[in-house]
This record gives sequence, structure tokens and C-alpha cells, in this order.
Amino acid sequence: MANVRDVLIIGGGVIGLTTAYFLAKRGLRVTITEANDFGQESSWAGAGIISPGHPRRAKSALGRLRALSASLFGELSAELRERTGIDNGYWQCGGLELRRSPDALEKIRVETLMREEQGEGATCEVLEGEQLRQHEPALSENLPGAVYFPEMAQLRNPWHLRALCAACAQVNAELRPFTPVLDLIRDNDRIHAARTPEDRLIADKYIICAGAWADRLLQPLGLSLGIRPIRGQIVLLRTPKLVLHHIILGGEEYLVPRRDGQILVGSTVEDAGFDKRTTAEAIGHLIETAIHWVPALRAAELVRAWAGLRPGSPDGRPFIGRVPGYANLFIAAGHFRSGITLSPGTALVLSELVVGSGPSVPLDAFRPERLTT
Ligand SMILES: Cc1cc2nc3c(=O)[nH]c(=O)nc-3n(C[C@H](O)[C@H](O)[C@H](O)COP(=O)(O)OP(=O)(O)OC[C@H]3O[C@@H](n4cnc5c(N)ncnc54)[C@H](O)[C@@H]3O)c2cc1C
Repeated sequence: MANVRDVLIIGGGVIGLTTAYFLAKRGLRVTITEANDFGQESSWAGAGIISPGHPRRAKSALGRLRALSASLFGELSAELRERTGIDNGYWQCGGLELRRSPDALEKIRVETLMREEQGEGATCEVLEGEQLRQHEPALSENLPGAVYFPEMAQLRNPWHLRALCAACAQVNAELRPFTPVLDLIRDNDRIHAARTPEDRLIADKYIICAGAWADRLLQPLGLSLGIRPIRGQIVLLRTPKLVLHHIILGGEEYLVPRRDGQILVGSTVEDAGFDKRTTAEAIGHLIETAIHWVPALRAAELVRAWAGLRPGSPDGRPFIGRVPGYANLFIAAGHFRSGITLSPGTALVLSELVVGSGPSVPLDAFRPERLTT
């Protein structure tokens, strides 16, 4: 039997690790347990785009959480670097949401998106034709325009996860890799222990941060939130010199240029169960899109391709809060396409909930009760 801890976090992706770090920094005794090695699933596979937001101007619940996160990222990245010596690659490079064709519907799509983003307080402006190519000369001349988001940022996921693990260890969070939680043992309205193949882990409070696998821990307790895996395939290209300087988005697809000449081309959105294989069709489509937008990428080296399983939720919003029917069980899962973006905000509000202080943003829209079956 392990030591009794204040908090046991189940799942070592970006959500679990950031939450463990925030709670342990407050002086709580935290254990984080991960089925495999830390940070190898969706959080590793992602592109690391951090969407912008403005904490005072954001209106929707998701907009406010996003804005809170965006406002924390610069400081968190600097803090992780100071503590651990690991640079997570945080870079406010800006982003361009393309008008992919002169088509009227495409113009409406981009203008609607711009209005929505402005409503949430994001800074953005329209760039037409030549203006667009002045910003990003490598873009195809067939692209009629874009919306420019100067505050869009990115980080290198594997570096960020390594920094989080090192920072957790520094603030005395206990990290348990290769320790899957098989089930949670209930005692009336409380969780009494988490059972692993080796022993039982006991804590005052438990937080499920198990990404696409979260429902597997809830179902034996008679609950389901409808969290399910949504596959995203992604391709890594490399060019000898920097071709792009901004994140390029166009609906579901995007290009993320790294400072060292690597370019991520993402991504698909597929309901394929827990299957992480890549497919010729999807990879072909992503490469074709990349070349269509940036013809110079025809000569890029194809480094590798992979897929990750995003935690999808039925209404597109994450679940953050106490699990109904349990006094000491919390969840933070279902962040779908925005788990990196939303991670500092999620960790902050969750740590506030766990210690019983008021959350920095309202959490009603994220309550698990809204969809429990
Ligand atoms: C291709 C792709 C591109 C993406 N791009 C972006 C992007 O640009 N920006 C952005 O914000 N988001 C992006 N995302 C989404 C983002 O990666 C996810 O929303 C985020 O990683 C979810 O984090 P998580 O910690 O909830 O899940 P995960 O990273 O999947 O972590 C969950 C962890 O829980 C562990 N676990 C599960 N069950 C148990 C158990 N019983 N016991 C112990 N451990 C368990 C798993 O092994 C896993 O390590 C992308 C995702 C993909 C796949």
C-alpha cells in the first residue's frame, strides 16, 4: 500500500502533468500515475498551436478559459525554463487563417470566423492578395487572402512535456510511469483507492486526466460522459532553410513551421476508435494540401508521419469539475483539438477547485453533470 497522498492524478498527458505541477507548487502532496511513459499520447502527437485570447474581452465560457490559458503560457514557459533548463519552444509566431479559394462561401467562412474571434477579444486583421504574400512570401499566388492573428503561438510538445515532468519532480510531485489504474474503488460517495497491477494508491482526492481513455475509468462507476478517441494524423517535413514564418491554417488543415526548418502538416479528424495507424490516403491528402498552399514544399524531405487520439467530447467542450455523485473525484478530460492551448487554464481552475478557492473563470459550461448518462 502506497503512502496516503493529498491528490492522485490519473493520466500523465499535458492536462495531468500541468495540474500536478500547479497543485504540488501549492504545497500539496501529489502523485501522478501514467499507464505507459509520461506524455506519449495525444499530448505528444499534437502540433502545439496555442490559440490567442484576451482575458477581459472574451465572452464565451470556452473563450474565457482559452484567454486565461493564453495569458499564462508566456510566464509558465519562462518558469519551466528557469526551473528545469528545458526550453519548451514557446514562440509567438502569429498565424494566418487562409481564404483557400476565391469562392464566395470560403469568403463567408473566413469572415464569420474573424467576427467570432473578434467577439472573443482576439486581435486579428484581414490581409488581401499582395498584403498576404508580403507577410508570407512562400504562399501560393492562388490564395486570395487571409485573416492574420499576430498573437497566435506555438510550442514543441515533446519539449514541453519533458519540462513539465522535470518541474513536477522538482516540486516533489511523485511520478509513477508504467502504472495503469485498473479501477477506482468506491466507498459510498467517496473514492477510497485506485487499484493498479502492483498495489492500491490512496489519496484524499482523485483527478481523472486520462484523455481519450477517461470513460473507461468512469464506466465501472456507472457513469459515461461520451468521451471518445478522435484520430489525428500528422506529417513532419523538413526544408534546408526556413520557408515559412507563421502558422498557416485553412479549415481543418494547417502548417506549423519550426525555427529549425521542420514543418508539421496536420491533421485529420477521424472517428477510428483506438487505432493509431496512419493511412496512405490521409498522408497523401495532407502533403497535397501543403504543396498547394506552399509550392516550395514540393522539394521538402518527408521525415515521418504519426497519429494521435484526441479526447473528443459530445459537445466539443472539455469536462472540468467534480464528478457527480462523488465528494472526492474530479475530472479534466475531453479537450479535443485544444488540449495544449487550454492546459494552463485547466490546471489553474482545477487546482483552485481542489483546494476549495473560487475558480478564475466560471466553470458551469464544463460541468460533467451537463452530459452524464
Ligand atoms: C494530430 C494532433 C494535433 C493536435 N494539435 C493540437 C494543437 O495544435 N493545439 C492544441 O491545443 N491541441 C492539439 N491537439 C489536441 C491535444 O493534443 C489534446 O487535446 C491534449 O493532448 C489532451 O491532453 P490529455 O492530457 O487530456 O490527453 P493525453 O495526452 O492523451 O494523456 C492522457 C494520458 O492518460 C493515460 N491514461 C489513460 N488511461 C489511464 C489509466 N487507466 N491509468 C493511468 N494512465 C492512463 C494515457 O496513457 C495518456 O498518457 C492535437 C491532437 C492531435 C492528435
